[in-house]
Parts: sequence; structure tokens; C-alpha cells
Amino acid sequence: MNIVLLGAPGAGKGTQAARLVSEYGLAHISTGDMLRVAVKDGTELGLKAKSYMDAGELVPDAVLIGMIKERLRRPDTEKGFILDGFPRTSNQAVALANELDELKRNLDAAVAVVVDFDVIVKRLASRRICRACGYVGTDADQSCPKCGGEMYQRDDDKAETVRNRLEVYEKSTAPLTDYYRGCGLLREVNGDQPVDQVFLELKALLAK
Ligand code: AMP
Repeated sequence: MNIVLLGAPGAGKGTQAARLVSEYGLAHISTGDMLRVAVKDGTELGLKAKSYMDAGELVPDAVLIGMIKERLRRPDTEKGFILDGFPRTSNQAVALANELDELKRNLDAAVAVVVDFDVIVKRLASRRICRACGYVGTDADQSCPKCGGEMYQRDDDKAETVRNRLEVYEKSTAPLTDYYRGCGLLREVNGDQPVDQVFLELKALLAK
């Protein structure tokens, strides 16, 4: 199964992707995670990406498309993959379609996790992530409930950057739902529900 997960930052794509990965054994491809690793490691890609990410802007398409092409050629994607955070522009969506054609693979679904912006702003302001295991919690978690690690706030989850990320989402990424609707691949799930419920509905959508 090959899936694209769509949705605004903070809609819960990463959380649902992690569950789908353990349910179906798919490769989880999060471009945000890949870029954060590159920034942390200080690679050339990371140096290029950092200023865009800090400002809540999109990293240029050419960088992302190159990164995804390379990632989709790795053997772990053969059993299926979930794209989380890619594509985010029409250019990226077209590049993905071309690349999958070349690899003789298809997308099975583009699932949009739909959440109102005011809910998202609150979620992102309180989102905290475990430095050790990546668990996503809230500012109520003093330490990671899973492994006891230190919880931190992503720089781009600070209020000013969040506003810009949502504007960028609205302008560049939201139109992709129309693109995938046109391809007959769009499925929508209400992301403003408990995580378990979202996951149940997601699985039901994918079984259709
Ligand atoms: P995320 O963790 O998916 O919210 O991504 C964090 C940041 O990484 C975004 O705000 C962008 O700066 C950058 N990024 C991640 N994926 C993409 C993409 N597909 N296109 C452009 N920039 C991206």
C-alpha cells in the first residue's frame, strides 16, 4: 500500500503515520524528520534547509524532489510507503507522479487529515516532543511518558512561525486536495477526534 498523508501542520499526520507503519509494515517517509536530521547533523542539505524551516517557509522544491527520489529508491519502500509532509506543492505532486510512473508504482490513496485552524494553533503551541524517542506529547508532560526522555518544543512550533506555516499551508499545500480529488485518490478523515478514533476511521477508509 502506498499512501500520501495530507493535512496542515499539527493535524496529526505524524502520529497517524506511525500507527499505520506498525499496522501495515510500511516505510514511513517524513520529509520534516529527514530535514531535521540533516539540520542536526550539519550536512550541506541541512545548512540549506535551516533558514527556511526556522521561518516556517517551504524548502525549495528542487531540494525536496531530489531527496524524495533518492528515498523512494531504497528497498524498504518496496513493501509500501507512507509519505508524511510530501508533497506540499503542485510541483512536488507532479514530480512524485512522474517518479512513481518511472518506478512502475502507484499511489493507493491520498488521505487528508482535516482539523480546524484554531484547534491546530492550540495544539502546536502545546506540542512537545521527546528528544530521545520522538514521542509527541504536550506541555503537560514534564518528561517523556514512554521513555522518560527530555521533552522539547520545536523552534517552528513557536507562535510567530506557526502563523506563517499555516499561511504557507493554505496557499501552497491545501490546493493539493483538489489535485488528488481529481485523480480519484482523495479520502478525508476528521482529525479533531481522539487519536484512536482517527486511526479506526483511517483504516476503514483504506480498506475501501
Ligand atoms: P513538518 O515536520 O512536516 O511540519 O516540516 C517542517 C518543515 O520542514 C516545514 O515547515 C518546511 O520548512 C520543511 N519541509 C518539510 N517537508 C517539506 C516539503 N515537502 N516541501 C518543502 N518544505 C518542507
